[in-house]
Amino acid sequence: MNNNVETREFQTEIRQLLDIVINSLYTDRNVFLRELISNAADATEKLRYCKLTEENSDNLDLPLEISIQTDEKAHTLTISDNGIGMTKEELIENLGTIAHSGSKEFIRQLAEVKKDSETGSMDLSLIGQFGVGFYSAFMVADKVTIHTRSFRPDAESWVWTSDGTGTYSLAKGDKNTYGTSIILNLKPDAYNYCQAEEIKRIIKQYSSFVPFPIKVNDEKANTVEAIWTKNPTQISEEEYTEFYKYIDNSYQEPFYKLHFTSDAPLSIRALLFVPAENFERLGFSRMERGVNLFCKKVLIQEKSEAIVPEWMRFVRGIIDSDDLPLNISRETLQDNALVVKLNKVVTSRFLKFLEEQAKDNPDKYRQFWEKFNHFLKEGAATDYIHKDALVRLLRFESNFTAPGELIALDDYVGRMREDQKAIYYVGGTNREVIESGPYLEIFKDKGIEVLYTYEAIDDYILDSLHEYKGKKIIAAEQDSSDLPDADLNESQKEEEMPEDDKQALLAWFKETLDTKVTEVRASKRLVDSPAVVLSPHGTHNMQKMMQLMSKELNSVPAGILEINSRHPVIKGINELRKNEDPFATEAAEQVLQNAQIAAGLIVDPRNMVNRLYSILERAVTKK
Ligand code: ADP
Ligand code: MG
Repeated sequence: MNNNVETREFQTEIRQLLDIVINSLYTDRNVFLRELISNAADATEKLRYCKLTEENSDNLDLPLEISIQTDEKAHTLTISDNGIGMTKEELIENLGTIAHSGSKEFIRQLAEVKKDSETGSMDLSLIGQFGVGFYSAFMVADKVTIHTRSFRPDAESWVWTSDGTGTYSLAKGDKNTYGTSIILNLKPDAYNYCQAEEIKRIIKQYSSFVPFPIKVNDEKANTVEAIWTKNPTQISEEEYTEFYKYIDNSYQEPFYKLHFTSDAPLSIRALLFVPAENFERLGFSRMERGVNLFCKKVLIQEKSEAIVPEWMRFVRGIIDSDDLPLNISRETLQDNALVVKLNKVVTSRFLKFLEEQAKDNPDKYRQFWEKFNHFLKEGAATDYIHKDALVRLLRFESNFTAPGELIALDDYVGRMREDQKAIYYVGGTNREVIESGPYLEIFKDKGIEVLYTYEAIDDYILDSLHEYKGKKIIAAEQDSSDLPDADLNESQKEEEMPEDDKQALLAWFKETLDTKVTEVRASKRLVDSPAVVLSPHGTHNMQKMMQLMSKELNSVPAGILEINSRHPVIKGINELRKNEDPFATEAAEQVLQNAQIAAGLIVDPRNMVNRLYSILERAVTKK
């Protein structure tokens, strides 16, 4: 057989990963066993499904179970399953390459940590969550041999071997049943893993929810049960936590847990978890859906895209319904009326759960919001069916909150002033930027609450809502008659320039700035700032996003310029204009750019720097 051995290289990222796996110390090595058992269980689950749906499946009759053999003399540990197995192509594809960008990113970050860590001790517990769990075998083994045969008729048996140092070999094998056997030749410091008692202990600890019997040296080591079908009162918190860890390949406790069952009008057993971390937020790529769809305890679809909306991709769990036909085609799940209905019921229930959590334990909800808000925002912007419930879950800072304190739209409406015309919001990259900008002035002056928005998506959601509980929603940067006007005191009124001057100045401003502005007018709401730009439609956050998307970074869209005719800078410009001093033009252009910068828009820095130098020159040379 040896004359037909083919040697292949691992893909670069896998070589990097193996290098870390082989040469590090670990905080927890038991990880490997759970990963290999979870792969065996996945393969067995897939076979169970094929038996249900494929024709000519009568010969797929081996028991659905996982068996583990320990050999203390040979120092080996063997994990076998009667699952779907792998063809030669599948071996190359699944155990030699990584397709997922998330896995690659995970490896890149691992390599960074390793470079920085002084002790060299690594935490590899996330390895399973990033789809590269198999390679954890090399934490304990200096040689891994896989005997596998695909369940497909006429498939051949193959043997995969590697010592984890850059290459693996493939040869034809002699396994005569379908399924996979993985043999680990243990490293001397990992001999404890060829003791049956140790293996049983770890299985109890980590794999108690594997839905198939696991036998260690022919003795059953786990109890199989579908906990989501049990009565919630009969399940302990520990069991829930262990179950979550099992389904999410996680070592952390879940953040939230929702277990609900209903029998009418639909039969539903749903057990949903919010994980402790949001990996998308930590810079990893887009998550996949994490809810598995079952029918009468049989897995119909893993990571089902049909059963929860896309924005719910951070949720992990199981939905089981007796009403689904067992042989339902996975391809048409999305169009199945019953699945659509299940999706709606479960999503509504989950949103109701979040609303209850927010009410009962606002601090905890806040932590949740900090980590997962972008999913809820995405939902509020895209999911029309559940929009109302999602909008109620949104949280904002405002000029009335302390930094970091958050309120809901309901809180805002509940304390609106009686004479207040609308719900107001103002955008900016952060609190400091908003509070130092000109848009807030009038609201501060009048003691009106304004919500702060830090991201374009916030503005998009509020803008597209138009109103909430019958109150209009208005951006402070928008040109709107619903914005409050400033009340000026007597001395402020005296600072006003004469009306003729003002009209002439406004006309001159428009002529000078030409197409850079759509209109120039005297502001009714500025208190301390010389000028402000108002956006003709949408907020500045949204305009900035459009600038970034169109890559026309230097062309700020023309807006309305409002000037404060009581401000010394504006009065000074008026004097220059009357004296026909060409410097007036430069000053006016700078006023506009300053207002655009204060609005968070991206302005062309080249002209501005030169202009600022000329302004500076004038200032420093002035006697
Ligand atoms: P993941 O399980 O997250 O996909 P792994 O690195 O654990 O990542 O496994 C990689 C792939 O190798 C699996 O997706 C599967 O296709 C294949 N595989 C691993 N173990 C088995 C097995 N026992 N039987 C069949 N296929 C397997
Ligand atoms: Mg795996």
